Amino acid sequence: MDKRERVEAALTGKKLDRVPVSAWGHFFNKEVTVDGFVSSMLDFQEHYDWDYMKMQARYTYHFEDWGAVVTQSGRPGDWPVIEKLPVTRPEDWTRLRIQKPREGVLGSMIHAAEGIRVGLGGKTPCIMTVFSPLMIAHMMAGDTTGTLLRHLREERESLKAGMEVIAETFRLFVAELRKTGIDGIFYATKQANDDFMGAAEYQAFARPYDEQVLSAAKGFPFVMLHLCMDKIHLKEMADYPVTMVHWDPTLKGNPSYTEARALTGDRVALGGGPSRPTLAQGSPAELKGELKTILTDAGDRHFLLGPGCSVLIAETLEENLRILRNAPEEYQDY
Ligand SMILES: [Zn+2]
Repeated sequence: MDKRERVEAALTGKKLDRVPVSAWGHFFNKEVTVDGFVSSMLDFQEHYDWDYMKMQARYTYHFEDWGAVVTQSGRPGDWPVIEKLPVTRPEDWTRLRIQKPREGVLGSMIHAAEGIRVGLGGKTPCIMTVFSPLMIAHMMAGDTTGTLLRHLREERESLKAGMEVIAETFRLFVAELRKTGIDGIFYATKQANDDFMGAAEYQAFARPYDEQVLSAAKGFPFVMLHLCMDKIHLKEMADYPVTMVHWDPTLKGNPSYTEARALTGDRVALGGGPSRPTLAQGSPAELKGELKTILTDAGDRHFLLGPGCSVLIAETLEENLRILRNAPEEYQDY
């Protein structure tokens, strides 16, 4: 099987020659420019020969067009610093306007996705990172400030006005991505977990915005829902309109793949892999142990291996990325 056949078979539950594998993480010093983003993705692919690519877009791209001021040190391991948040007061949500997908920072991301697809020459399925509207709102209000949850409980109408603008902006953005010929999106939420909010509240407040964005992804063969963090709401989100659900099964309160199959049946592919600390800096024995457990639990079809969550490539051992890359051949019998 070539990469495309293998990934398509994994997404649709057909028999595989082996489970497809990939890895992803930030290149903070490169992703700040379009050319740097494109070349970092193509170089990483060239180096490891992954089966599929999650385009690790600039961390703050989702909300820079709404007035965020972001600085970066230029060092590969340094997180960007958000100097000015787009939202501090409730009325700031009502001032947001829908952004056009071909303009500004969003436009540069469409341009980069096109460049990456062309650079891959059609051989490697590739998907673009898109955050959920609630995750974007959380980042816009400062994800350590508590502002978002305060507005959600006390200033809900203002927040809803902002959420509608964010969701429509990204519905349009995903529709534009459809025109680029890439294979799909990596749709991430860091808020669908019990540590952030209960499942009933997430479903009532956030799900309609998720569905608005995902409505534009219909027709994409590869739509990966990434449920970030511990205690994820897999049960409530098992029917999301996606082709794959991905999470870190090693985190506290998260389901195993066997447990997840009981909820999702054969409707979607499942995905995930070793925890971020183990993949980044774990010993070879620790990493191999996690990989064996995961691959045994996941089985030999309808599954795509990758990191449990994105790593920082500059702080991840090359040896560990090689162990991940070779795990399907080493630990699974076909
Ligand atoms: Zn994550």
